[in-house]
Amino acid sequence: MASYGPVTKRYWALWDSLKVHSGVLYRKWESDDGKSFRLQLVVPRSRVENVLEELHSSPSGGHFGVMKTTHKVRERFYWDKLKSDVDKWCRTCSTCTARKGQTPAPVGGCNVTTWELPSKE
Ligand SMILES: [Zn+2]
Repeated sequence: MASYGPVTKRYWALWDSLKVHSGVLYRKWESDDGKSFRLQLVVPRSRVENVLEELHSSPSGGHFGVMKTTHKVRERFYWDKLKSDVDKWCRTCSTCTARKGQTPAPVGGCNVTTWELPSKE
């Protein structure tokens, strides 16, 4: 019996919601109330970078933050560990890090000691 990796197992768990249309794998994504659904294209690992490039780094991508980029990606795509990939992509994006300025965190915290001055009487 061949052992499937953890990723494959997670896809098996989604089996009922997976559909194939014209040779492309889609995942049926239902809204919380179950009244509407949309189909997300299941992105193979090798294509994840292309999607992130298009939806984050391209001129139309706009270099949005992690939350907005994740939202945009989820409107059309699905893959395993999507969120952490988006997170990593945004953190390592040179345009985004340059824009933020990346100021280093202060060392040590602010332990301001207030000295009581001797009163002049
Ligand atoms: Zn960026």
